[in-house]
Amino acid sequence: MTRTQFSQLLAFATLVTLAASLSAQQPAPKPEDTEVWTPVPKIVTPGVTNEAPPSDAIILFDGKNQDEWVSAQDKSPAKWVVHDGIFTVSKERGVGNIETKRTFKDYQLHIEWRIPENITGSGQARGNSGVFLASTGPGDDGYELQVLDSYNNTTYVNGQAASMYKQSIPLVNANRKPGEWQSYDVVWTAPTFTDDGSLKTPAYVTVFFNGVLVQNHFELKGQTLFIGKPFYKKYDRAPIKLQAHGDKSEPLSFRNIWVREIKEIN
Ligand code: MG
Repeated sequence: MTRTQFSQLLAFATLVTLAASLSAQQPAPKPEDTEVWTPVPKIVTPGVTNEAPPSDAIILFDGKNQDEWVSAQDKSPAKWVVHDGIFTVSKERGVGNIETKRTFKDYQLHIEWRIPENITGSGQARGNSGVFLASTGPGDDGYELQVLDSYNNTTYVNGQAASMYKQSIPLVNANRKPGEWQSYDVVWTAPTFTDDGSLKTPAYVTVFFNGVLVQNHFELKGQTLFIGKPFYKKYDRAPIKLQAHGDKSEPLSFRNIWVREIKEIN
């Protein structure tokens, strides 16, 4: 081996060692890795809307009972608090997320929610809940349309109200004040999969927040994860799930929830 060959070999070996030590030092992924803080959506003041269900809607909550809902954890009867024609998230130990008894594929959904007027906390700990458009597990697995007080509350913008959590910033900020009822109208196109579990077509979502378009046929990259990059996991039909988030702020309420399954006319 010539002196030149030897020094080339030495340089190569040094590079390999350096690369190996760099990859060994890769830090563990953190929630902050997937937070986006700009651009901040422009504020739009919504008009007044009140959406009654059309004749072919499946009523998921009409203010009377939680018969259409179960605990996401163990499928026992839902134990959120029904009162005054609404239900309020229960943050009691062991209650947790609730989901529909029925399962869905593609659908149109209407749901109304209200942050308490006396809400406290900040960032993600201020009226946090969520509508999982397809619940693919008992915890926070699935595809979350974020519910949060984002009227005057800074957080990462891909985690504010009407974001598809950590994937899509809402086009504008159409929040009403805490204490006022707000609505989501959603068009959900479920992902489809081949027999071997690989993705055939991705999920798409369109969302109107208080009547204002905030997600426009957004193509999801997979499930909405708290930590890490999204990925798809095969499912066929799934319930719709509501989140009992673990933050300590006053629990929010829901009312007037209905869904229409989308069936192709041809
Ligand atoms: Mg949430």
